[in-house]
Amino acid sequence: MSLRLINGRDVAAQVTEALNDRLQVLRAQGINPGLAVVVVGDDPASHVYVRMKGKACDRMGMLSRTHILPSSTSEDDLLSLIDSLNADAEIHGILCQLPLPSHIDERKVIERIDPYKDVDAFHPYNVGRMLIGDPLFLPATPAGIQRLLVSYEVETRGKHVVVLGRSNIVGKPIASILMQKGEGADATVTVAHSRSTDLEGLCRRADILIAAVGIPLFVKADMVKEGAVVIDVGTNRVDDPASDKGYRLVGDVDFDNVKGKVAAISPSPGGVGPMTIAMLMENTVKAAEMSLGH
Ligand code: NAP
Repeated sequence: MSLRLINGRDVAAQVTEALNDRLQVLRAQGINPGLAVVVVGDDPASHVYVRMKGKACDRMGMLSRTHILPSSTSEDDLLSLIDSLNADAEIHGILCQLPLPSHIDERKVIERIDPYKDVDAFHPYNVGRMLIGDPLFLPATPAGIQRLLVSYEVETRGKHVVVLGRSNIVGKPIASILMQKGEGADATVTVAHSRSTDLEGLCRRADILIAAVGIPLFVKADMVKEGAVVIDVGTNRVDDPASDKGYRLVGDVDFDNVKGKVAAISPSPGGVGPMTIAMLMENTVKAAEMSLGH
């Protein structure tokens, strides 16, 4: 069996390329999509992600505004910033990089974002619309996973998908997306987590295994069915004195040992990661399009 490597960089480039026509149509109507990214505190990983999002906007000629706030920022001040971005006609998408410092209630902040500007799709309104199969936006990482599967013509209809992890940003939404009716969905989904029993047996019954546990190399070859499709969402830093940075990124899947057994696999890095940014750009363009009729 020849292994198919699911290349997120290629598919992400196709997604952003396809946005160019939509951008032209918007600009002809005097609209350039604008994304505001808010980051509170000095979590290094958050700052890396925020820079990547800003650069992606720049590459596409979209407006990007980054608000870097000190970790001492009060909840009220953050909510006031969100209010001003909600009211700002140049800004079509707003996202607040998580995690927030512990004195700020993340739910309050997420719920303050106008659902029509909520390009992360974390607002309960958007979570609800996703669940009933009528989304305004889909959250970027799970939407990127679905797009990868569609792009590589991985059949999901009637297939058994096992999702490892039940977080609000990956596990729960990808399960809810793949169980919907329609193309790139219609799957039978099992969601497993740290309280699941016989995790290995569950994984071995997966036609498509999606790993989002945040544990380096958690999924071993003996947990994967021969010929399965594996999507590795994990992005974990492990110490690596040989690297300039002192660390390297690895996924949740033991790629080197799993790859010989599966039909297709997305590596990490280079799989789901690039898709997250591309889908965020797509959501921001969609938000700008919706602003015309809103
Ligand atoms: P998270 O919030 O920490 O959730 C991890 C999930 O894994 C939880 O549901 C947890 O179960 C489950 N889990 C932990 N240990 C387990 C075990 N031994 N057996 C079974 N399940 C276990 O993580 P997340 O935010 O979903 O992220 C998961 C991974 O994806 C991380 O590596 C993260 O960096 C990566 N990620 C990548 C992207 C991207 O763009 N590529 C985006 C988001 C996240 P409980 O609920 O029972 O605790």
